[in-house]
Amino acid sequence: MKAYEKNIRIVEPYVPGEQPQHKVIKLNTNENPYPPAPGVKEALEKMDADRLRLYPDPEASALTEALAKYYGVGKNQVFVGVGSDDVLSMCFLTFFNSDKPVLFPDITYSFYKVWAELYRIPYECQKLDENFRIVKEDYYKENGGVIFPNPNAPTGLYEDIRFVEDVLTHNQDVIVIVDEAYIDFAGESALKLIDRYENLIVVQTFSKARSMAGMRIGYAIASPKLIGYLNDVKYSFNSYTMNQTSLVCGAASVKDEEYFRHTVKMIVDTREWAKKQFEELGFRCLDSGANFLFVTHPEQDAKELFEALKEAGIYVRYWGSSRIEQYLRVTVGLREEMEILFRFLRNKIIN
Ligand SMILES: *Cc1c(COP(=O)(O)O)cnc(C)c1O
Repeated sequence: MKAYEKNIRIVEPYVPGEQPQHKVIKLNTNENPYPPAPGVKEALEKMDADRLRLYPDPEASALTEALAKYYGVGKNQVFVGVGSDDVLSMCFLTFFNSDKPVLFPDITYSFYKVWAELYRIPYECQKLDENFRIVKEDYYKENGGVIFPNPNAPTGLYEDIRFVEDVLTHNQDVIVIVDEAYIDFAGESALKLIDRYENLIVVQTFSKARSMAGMRIGYAIASPKLIGYLNDVKYSFNSYTMNQTSLVCGAASVKDEEYFRHTVKMIVDTREWAKKQFEELGFRCLDSGANFLFVTHPEQDAKELFEALKEAGIYVRYWGSSRIEQYLRVTVGLREEMEILFRFLRNKIIN
């Protein structure tokens, strides 16, 4: 080791799902199989490239205003970033500065641990129960903050708003972040609680239900006070996180409610149909409130299945980590893509 290496921040990075450059059936990173709303394409076509010589609006007003209007909150209650990964990372930096550990589930979005390590935030993972449910009482002890996804990933399990409120009532002295990347496929959002809990932050994204993972847009909604703290950190870091194209396309997406509802419904319908197909093949599927299914088969080794699927050009996600080594996470794609998946599985399992 070179002397200078002692002063390097060594981190174990998050490992994203593969993005193969050749054509495959891609059910591994929870992207939406439908294109973004037609208005997004129109906005892109109308964009003037000359405009790109200027810096974008540092306040990202076009987008924060569209979101504020959509959710019926003040513009000063919305914070936008480069995907919810950027927003969440900024939240860790801004709000998790206690000596006490931040609490999150042991099986969850693996980026939480990476940010905690990166920013040297103490953390403690709380074990999901044997049915992979979050045990809310585990979050009632003293802590430096709480974060969990709802629905949780990669389990897909959704907890209702009373559950979220129970966690909040027991954690009034710390910041509670609910990562709602998949909420549109599930049910009621914790946004309903924003006015009553000044310490609650709800984070959502355009990557899943809004079909815009490639655009990188995420946002937090919270009390004006917390959004103010987030903005102070952002302006100490990079004033222009949101590029001009994202601002315009994001605002266009929010304006097309009908398309949004329609595509979300199609995915939910395909998900419920796919769950039955998996079960007919002997898989156990957790109830999903997301755009993916978390599945296991009593007689099929998950890793072998993952590799066989990949060989056949069907990509799903496999971690092989403790407690979930026999599980696969399968994104809900188009009905036609799912048919190809089930044809493969039927051949493999029944023959
Ligand atoms: C996909 C995902 C995110 C990040 O999404 P972005 O593309 O960065 O907006 C955050 N949290 C969870 C739980 C996710 O699944």
